[in-house]
Amino acid sequence: MTKLDLENSYISLPTDFYRFTQSEIMPALELLKLNNELAELLDLDKDFLLSENGTMFLGGQALPETTKSISLAYAGHQFGQLVPQLGDGRALLLGDKICKDNQRRDIQLKGSGKTMFSRGGDGRAGIGPVIREYLVSESMHHLDIPTTRSLAILLTGEKIVRETIQPGAILVRVAKSHVRVGTFQFFAIRDQQDHVQRLADFIIDRNFQTIKTKKDKYRLLLEKVVEGQAKLIAKWMSVGFIHGVMNTDNTSISCETIDYGPCAFMDSYQEKKVFSSIDQFGRYSFSNQALVGPWNLSRFAETILFLLSDDQDKSIKIAEEILLNFEKIFNSTLNEITSKKLGLPYASAHSEKLYNELLVLMELGQADFTLTLRSLESVVRKSNQNHFIENFVFPEIEQKVQLNNWLKDWHKLLEIEEANKETAVKRLRSNNPIFIPRNHIIEKVIREASEGNFNQFNLLATALKEPFTHNSSFVDFYKSPKKEELVQQTFCGT
Ligand code: AMP
Ligand code: MG
Repeated sequence: MTKLDLENSYISLPTDFYRFTQSEIMPALELLKLNNELAELLDLDKDFLLSENGTMFLGGQALPETTKSISLAYAGHQFGQLVPQLGDGRALLLGDKICKDNQRRDIQLKGSGKTMFSRGGDGRAGIGPVIREYLVSESMHHLDIPTTRSLAILLTGEKIVRETIQPGAILVRVAKSHVRVGTFQFFAIRDQQDHVQRLADFIIDRNFQTIKTKKDKYRLLLEKVVEGQAKLIAKWMSVGFIHGVMNTDNTSISCETIDYGPCAFMDSYQEKKVFSSIDQFGRYSFSNQALVGPWNLSRFAETILFLLSDDQDKSIKIAEEILLNFEKIFNSTLNEITSKKLGLPYASAHSEKLYNELLVLMELGQADFTLTLRSLESVVRKSNQNHFIENFVFPEIEQKVQLNNWLKDWHKLLEIEEANKETAVKRLRSNNPIFIPRNHIIEKVIREASEGNFNQFNLLATALKEPFTHNSSFVDFYKSPKKEELVQQTFCGT
């Protein structure tokens, strides 16, 4: 077998952390998509991956002797309720390896069959959710947002029964680690403090090397995770992304976006937008993400309190102080990004106010979030405000006046802070994507894929690689949905 340099470092942990599991034999494994660029980063031979043996490897059927596949144990708060036993019910960790950028990454399968943790589920995935995760996770990466990535899609030859009957598929996913807040919770609720400490040491060694030798490394771990999650969620919100299921088992300690279920990008801006069919009370709505983040991290902090100090009161104080930083880091990150989205060179109270006023107007005018922000670039370039104004539909004249006033305020600030028009245009373009994977397009691609046609999927998978560059071949992907195309709800499809 080709040298893959794959091992499984998670096996160094006690066996309570995982179960040795093999992928189920599927009737007809077939490679549907290989992400060449990611294969390159993983230092995996492309010709091997494209061969029959490569398909067997990617499907978990033929692994090198250096690794053993496992399913991981974890717990989690789902919609606020603690579920003590979750775990990889349809996922399988094949192993990990050092990539060309010196970062260690896991290779994991989703949809490869039942495990010890399947809890009555079939351990399988349909082509719909697999395609959604491939497209959205890769888009997030190219939008410069930390995320798990998608190396390949395999068809299994099975038919999967969900809301519809669809072809079975496996997603080959890559992550800095699959340790979640829920992994810590799994051992904390069982009072296995030694295991919690082992896990903390494992993840520090894996992802936070710089704090490894520090005396207060566990306090620093909490600081790092709070900082990473605050920045991550700010980035989501700067592109109108709604994760949809921010349960603690879907909150990565490596601070990557993980577990793409009923996620979606907003078309027209709505502060409280919810897509997920299972999120009845809007717990994970667009703007609530900034509140759920610290809630999830408080659950993490609770699991490692005993590592912060010998004195419990002191531990609580340390944790509270760190958790309070979430809001500060979140706000300053969002302000920094959104000031650039307005073409401004730096964040200030003025830029923050201006951005927030624009959001209010967008909601009132049912304006498309992505296209409205992108149009600012052509306002500066062509000195024509109509490109921007036509995104809004206002029933009242008063709101049109407000929008014109907003434009005046924006021009004024831009003139003061950025005299160079070209620099402003460049900044606007490189911070406001023209491409996001829109729901109605993804749904269309999934419908076609379920019938065996992957042309649009392949085209979209190419378009997403340059989200900031206008490309005339992809203009149909840039458009907001027509009324009849609008998708209001997304499903887990698990
Ligand atoms: P998720 O929606 O991916 O966050 O999954 C929540 C939990 O349900 C995890 O423990 C999954 O492993 C499990 N799960 C989801 N879908 C399936 C399935 N088809 N079969 C078995 N377990 C599943
Ligand atoms: Mg999950």
